[in-house]
Formats: sequence, structure tokens, C-alpha cells
Amino acid sequence: MPKTQETVLEIDLNALKHNYQHLKNKVHPETKFLAVVKAFAYGSDSVEIATYLESLNVDYFAVAYVSEGIQLRDAGITKPILVLHPQSVNFETIIERCLEPSLYSQYVLNAFIEVAEAKKQQNYPVHIKFNTGLNRLGFSEKEVTQVSDRLLKTKSVKVASMFSHIAASEDLNEKAFTLNQIQTFKNITQEFKEQIGYHPMMHMCNTSGILNYPEAHFDMVRSGIGLYGYGNSEKADAFLKPIATLKTIISQIHKINTGDSVGYNRAFIAKRPTKTATIPIGHADGIGRQYGKGKGFGVINGKKAPFIGNVCMDMIMLDVTDINCQEGDEVVLFDKKTTAASFSETANTISYEIITSITQRVKRIFLK
Ligand SMILES: *Cc1c(COP(=O)(O)O)cnc(C)c1O
Repeated sequence: MPKTQETVLEIDLNALKHNYQHLKNKVHPETKFLAVVKAFAYGSDSVEIATYLESLNVDYFAVAYVSEGIQLRDAGITKPILVLHPQSVNFETIIERCLEPSLYSQYVLNAFIEVAEAKKQQNYPVHIKFNTGLNRLGFSEKEVTQVSDRLLKTKSVKVASMFSHIAASEDLNEKAFTLNQIQTFKNITQEFKEQIGYHPMMHMCNTSGILNYPEAHFDMVRSGIGLYGYGNSEKADAFLKPIATLKTIISQIHKINTGDSVGYNRAFIAKRPTKTATIPIGHADGIGRQYGKGKGFGVINGKKAPFIGNVCMDMIMLDVTDINCQEGDEVVLFDKKTTAASFSETANTISYEIITSITQRVKRIFLK
């Protein structure tokens, strides 16, 4: 790879393919695979990622919001797209763009059926979300009969799937809770499919669910973070390859004296003669103010340089006193070796947050 000359997020599509195949090998060949490409495919680029995954024959996509689904349809994605968190104001658009809504409450169920009937739909595919313990979105066990009664009164929609979401699939200390969620889901779906008289698909597992709960793979699994190379545990990470590398260059080096300060509000005071490097990336690029003051780092010529002072909008300063480096040298914030998980740990957050935070100002480059 030639050294970068500006801030870039490099996306390795071969790593994506590796992760997809690794996760797919964990599930039964008949089990469908849904790729979660919400939030710009976890901060990379949803169109590039979905187009590539479609070429690998992934079965389904999911996004959070309708606008994200429209972007994929505009780019020519033809596989089914589940919209996990649609708002009723967008229901006409959902139908016009062949998107498939998650229906999670009486309100959205009724609202969607009304729109589907007005648009003279027959058997429009919808996904019924059940709450089994996350307490975020979904019908409760008590509402099953009400939901099926409502569905039996219309021909406009047909249930493509029944699904739920695990609250702590990555945390094996919560195994009893998770097993209870799985059992609850089985009970609910058994009752529901008897009432509606047909068998929609069942799905429940996210990435860590795929890895930790093979008994809950059912008809489809939904993977996001794993496709992007993170498995929420050291053991799982060993088999996955982070697809994103965030790198930049040193814009300027300063040599300052003991007692001199660096950056806004003088948040860093040099305790020794110090060499600093300024890099062209800041909180407007997604490296938030929870970093800085020793949290976060860049890797320069193989050595870690901590962020010092406050993160600025377009710049961060690093302590490079002990590193042999010069202006123009490459600075890696995260890559396959020094992962986004380890970067985010310095600020007590998770890989999901840092990778989805990288804003659209950062140029994306795709490696194939
Ligand atoms: C985001 C999301 C996923 C993907 O989870 P990962 O942990 O990234 O694999 C799956 N299902 C639902 C409902 C989600 O919101």
C-alpha cells in the first residue's frame, strides 16, 4: 500500500468476504444470512458494502431507517431489505421502494395495514418483532393474539418473518437470561404461527448470537459487527479481520519546553521537553472529545503515540517525544493489528461506537 497523504478510511473488501464466509460457515447451509448495513454499514459505506455482499449472494439486508433503505434501492440493490425501525410517516415510501418494515407495536401495525390497503397491496411482506427481554421494541407475549387477529382481518400484508433480539448475546454471564429469551421466543412464535395458519421465518441472533447460541439460529441470522471484523471477544476476534483502517499523516511537528501547553484550554502541560505531532483529524471526523488527554493514540512507525490535550474539531496533537518521525509520516489510528476495539477501550467505549462515528468528511477508499 502506498503511504497515505491525507486522512482516509480504507475498507478492505477481501476482509469483508473472509468475515462473511467465516460467519456463514457457523450456520447451517439452509439458514439464511441477513447482513446488517445500517449506519453506513457501520461507518464504512453501505452502498459499496451491500453491493459487494449482494455479489456474494447474501440473502437479506437490514437497515435501521427508511432513508437508508432508499439509498440502497437507488444504488440498485435488489435483495429484500428489512427496515428495523421505520416510522409511520414513511410507510408509503416503504411500499413504493419495496422495503420491508419491522412492525413492533399496535400503532405501527395498524398504520402500516391502513397504508397497504389504501395502496391496494396483497401479501406485502412485513416482519413482526417480539420483545423477549431487551425491552426496546416489540410486541409482548400478551399481545400475540391481538396481533394475529389484526393480521387475519386483512389480505394486504403477509408475515415474512417473526423475530426478536437478544439483550446480552456477547455476555456469557447472562446465559440463563438469554436461554430464557430463546425459550420465550419459541413459545411466542409457536402460538403466533398456529393462530395465523402459516410458518413465517424465525430469526433472533446477531453476531454474538451466531457465535454463542447455535441453537437459536432458526431460519435466518442477522450479522452486523462480525462482517466488519469484530466479534465482541478475543476468541471471536481471532477469526475475524477488521475491514476498516483509519489513517492520516503528521501535518506539523513542534518542539516545546517544560511548562509549555498544547491545544485549547491548555489541557496538556509539558512535564519535560516534548515533541508533538499535529494530525488532520478531529471531532468533526468522529474522534469525539471523550478522547484526548491521554485517551486514544496514533501508531507512528510502529510506536504508539498518545493523544494529548483536547481533541479539536479538525486536529489532534500527539506526544511523539520518543518516536523517530517527521512531518508527512503516516499515523494509523486503527487497523487490523491495532484494532478499533483497542482504540475505543481507551475511552471506555466499544468498537461499534468508534467505527460508526467516522463522519462522511473522511474519504473512503476501497481495497479489493
Ligand atoms: C444492529 C442490529 C443487529 C446487528 O447486531 P451485531 O451485534 O452488529 O451483529 C441485529 N439485529 C438488530 C435488531 C439490530 O438492531
